[in-house]
Formats: sequence, C-alpha cells, structure tokens
Amino acid sequence: MTASVGFIGLGIMGRPMAANLLAAGHELTVFNRSPGPMRALEEQGARPAQSAEEAAASADVVITMLPDSPQVTEVVAGPGGVLEGARSGALLIDMSTISPVAAVELWERARGAGCELLDAPVSGGDVGAREGTLSIMVGGEADAVRRARPLFDVLGQTIVHVGGPGAGQVVKACNQMVVALNIGAVGEALVLASKAGVDPALVLDALGGGLAANRVMEVKRDNFLEREFTPGFKVDLHCKDLGIAQAAARDYGASLPLTATVTELMQALRLSGRGDQDHSALLTVLEGLSGVQA
Ligand code: NAD
Repeated sequence: MTASVGFIGLGIMGRPMAANLLAAGHELTVFNRSPGPMRALEEQGARPAQSAEEAAASADVVITMLPDSPQVTEVVAGPGGVLEGARSGALLIDMSTISPVAAVELWERARGAGCELLDAPVSGGDVGAREGTLSIMVGGEADAVRRARPLFDVLGQTIVHVGGPGAGQVVKACNQMVVALNIGAVGEALVLASKAGVDPALVLDALGGGLAANRVMEVKRDNFLEREFTPGFKVDLHCKDLGIAQAAARDYGASLPLTATVTELMQALRLSGRGDQDHSALLTVLEGLSGVQA
C-alpha cells in the first residue's frame, strides 16, 4: 500500500531516503530550509512545500531528517511546524539523531496534538541511505511501528523496535559511543605499531581475523592507510552525537569514562578546524600525541 508522505530535511541522508520512497511509489511532499534539494526531488516526482506545516498538511506520515534536537523541536512543534499542519491521527517519524529526552518531549507534544510519533534514528551512513540498507533503531508504541513498517522496509535492512518513546535515540547514542571507541582503539593500535616499526596494513590484516576484528577496521581501512579523510561521517556530527551520549548519561545516571575520553579527542580534532573531515581522522590526533605518522 502506498502512503502520502511529508519529508522534511533533504541533506546527505534525507535526500536519498526521500528518493527511495518516491521510487517505491509513495506520494511525497518535501520541504527543506534551502530550496536546492527540493528542486532535484521535484524532477523525480515530489511536490515541494513552502513550510513544514504545508508538507504535513496532506500527509498520512511525516518524516524528519534534520541535524539536531533544536531543529527537530522547531520544525515539529514550533510556529509553522508539523503539528500545526498535521491531520489528527498522522504518524510522525523522526529519523534524525537527537537527544532521547527531547525525543520523549516531542512524543508527548505529538500525542497532545492527536498524532503518533516514533524516534527512529539510523546508522549506515550516506551509502546505506542511497542503497536502502540502513539500520533503523525504533522507539515508540508497537501499533505505530507496525504502521511505519512498509516505509522502514524501503529505507533500511535491519529494523529493530528497541522499546518505548526515546529508546531508539538511546540505542543510537550507544551506537555512536561504540563507533568512536573503535576508531580510537584502532588508531592507538596503529600508532603503537608504527612506533615499533610494524606495517599498519599488516596489523589490520592480522587483527581482522581474530577477536579484535571490527567493522570500523574494515570500513575505514583505506581512510586509515591512505590518510583519506573526505567524509563519510563528519567529525562535527560525531561530536554532536557524543555530546548527546554524555547528556543522556547525566539524565539517566550512568558513568561513561571511556566515552568522556574519546569525546575530548574528537573535540580536539573539531577545534583544530577539521570538523568537516571524516571521523576516522581521529587517528591524526592520536598520532600527534606520540609524534608519529602511522
Ligand atoms: P545534513 O546537514 O546533510 O542535512 C540536514 C538538512 O536539514 C539540510 O538539507 C538542511 O538544509 C535541512 N534543515 C536544517 N534545518 C532545517 C529547518 N529548520 N527546516 C528545514 N530544513 C532544515 O545532515 P545529514 O548528514 O543528512 O544528517 C541528518 C541527521 O542524520 C543528523 O541528525 C545526523 O546526525 C544523522 N545521521 C547522519 C549520518 C551521515 O552519515 N551523514 C548517518 C547516520 C545518521
């Protein structure tokens, strides 16, 4: 069954996701702060809207894919936003990475306006967005998840309903902690090996067959070995996500000492003017501490 979908936020992730929904036959109304990406999708059959409110007005389902909590809160619950335009009973799906606390607040506000809301952040990057193979971590009520399932099946490959409202964002924060710590661990291993005169490529070959093997090592191999740091996933966004993890740790009462360390290293990279590089560039900060190039 096809749905009438409002799609808001057409950046690196949102634009290919919207294109996949169009290609699957869904009727799309799109809105983005800057008009360029809307024109491109219009050529593929989408209808452009002048505001978030207008994008929501004719939709059964409204998807948001925006940078962070303030933008999602403004676009969903602010003046001229989704909740002002949405029909009663509409399903809102926020697929951005935002604070779990903000996600729960939005769920309450949506419910107050007669709408359902899921937090459904993703991992898998721009490649996963283009290929429709994202991993989607869904928080919210089971009925709403069932309703969203046909759209999730177009966008992703691994779809897990992880709990109630906000749980999707908690799991995404966990995801970002584990990825950052893996980048840090691989980076430190390459620094030690280089200091000791061992070839980093052979380190990755050897570690890749044992318990130390991980996806970061596999997917970022060329970034590390070729020192190629075109994003991919930007340092700025990873700093934002680690900030969300640390705030969630305070909100829920957890101590995350390793995350605190890797957050400081990622911040150092950002503050040195490299926020727009791929997060694998964390290697260069670790190299700097030991005065070596891997
Ligand atoms: P992006 O910056 O490329 O895109 C964000 C889009 O939102 C832009 O087109 C911008 O114009 C639009 N926008 C911003 N404020 C707006 C507003 N008030 N109204 C309407 N449009 C507005 O970001 P992205 O890389 O597509 O990431 C989107 C979300 O997905 C983020 O939360 C990010 O953390 C998450 N994410 C990104 C990746 C990745 O690899 N890039 C992977 C997983 C998750």
